[in-house]
Amino acid sequence: MSTLRVCALYPDLMNIYADRGNIAVLRARCEWRGLGFELAASGMGEALDPDAHDLFYMGGGQDRDQMMVARDMVATKRDALHAAADRGAVVLAVCGGYQLLGSSYQMGDEELPGVELVDLRTVREAGPRLIGNCAIEADLGGGPRVIAGFENHGGRTYLGPDAQPLGRVLAGHGNNGRDGFEGVRRHNVIGTYLHGPLLPKNAWLADRLIELALEVELEPLPGDEAEEAAHRSARRAAGVG
Ligand code: GLN
Repeated sequence: MSTLRVCALYPDLMNIYADRGNIAVLRARCEWRGLGFELAASGMGEALDPDAHDLFYMGGGQDRDQMMVARDMVATKRDALHAAADRGAVVLAVCGGYQLLGSSYQMGDEELPGVELVDLRTVREAGPRLIGNCAIEADLGGGPRVIAGFENHGGRTYLGPDAQPLGRVLAGHGNNGRDGFEGVRRHNVIGTYLHGPLLPKNAWLADRLIELALEVELEPLPGDEAEEAAHRSARRAAGVG
């Protein structure tokens, strides 16, 4: 029996909008299928074993949480995260966690470093926070699908020439409210602004991440049709098809 080994990064600090619900969904969908599930955590000052986990997860946080975490993450986890990503482990980061996957998060005079897993930078520009419901279209294999969520970020993220977005915005703001892109994807490294939490709102995405992490193929679970129907009616209500 396969076991999904998840490591939560800074779970006490990076958990805005109940982002830890993403881990609850991964656990439930593994256990409902008879797959094993193990959860570890790595916090301030703690090293990371790149080979001990199949999926690394980081939630969102306020700017002040990110200020505490950013330098520690570069010092204690950067190299391990690169090694893990290079061997195909899944890295999923939401909002504040997503911003720290890039090269920097500029907040006025202060520049927080990122772990440089992906080619992007984030800037806290003048202007309103980007807040509201958001829907994007993303293809993680098997054709385009909708990911629904909620975004609330002051930072605007700009992808560099070597970065691919996770998806294109159907409704909402996305990375910066301008270029129509949302999130980032490099192989199994995924960053997104979408809370919800993300995976309870998009059960298919939870399954896809489990598939990528364990290199397995999963069948839908009983009850997934209700989830699909809810997605369809939400898409119609949002006028996105
Ligand atoms: N603090 C970051 C910003 O405002 C991320 C916020 C979040 O994780 N929701 O841009």
